[in-house]
Amino acid sequence: MTDKTTSATVLVIEDNPLNMELVCDILDSYNYRVLRSERAEPGISLAQEHLPDLVIMDISLPGMDGLTATRLLRSDPNTRNIPVLALTAGAMRGDERRALAAGCDSYISKPFEIDVLLREIERLLSNRPREGTS
Ligand code: MN
Repeated sequence: MTDKTTSATVLVIEDNPLNMELVCDILDSYNYRVLRSERAEPGISLAQEHLPDLVIMDISLPGMDGLTATRLLRSDPNTRNIPVLALTAGAMRGDERRALAAGCDSYISKPFEIDVLLREIERLLSNRPREGTS
């Protein structure tokens, strides 16, 4: 890569392989660094280890769901300020409200449009307070 534009690291926690590929392809093509996990627990470990700039969190996951995972990220001082963008099932009424209540910063209903996802990613990354500045 000769293009040295700032590349933020985005962790994607998503169990659906097609959605995972779609989201990661989008992130790749915009030069984001991508970490991925198909389940919540290893995803949380990745977040604690790498401190990504953003987490894209599927809410419906096998085992621990994305709401619980978000609460855990929020309860850890090291990961508490990482923005979380929830991917919610559009048909599930109340998903959005529950996502925000669990501490997600924002949500996108599936199926989502690429432009909408990208805009939301950029918005959340630009909102993030940078350490060492005030
Ligand atoms: Mn899912």
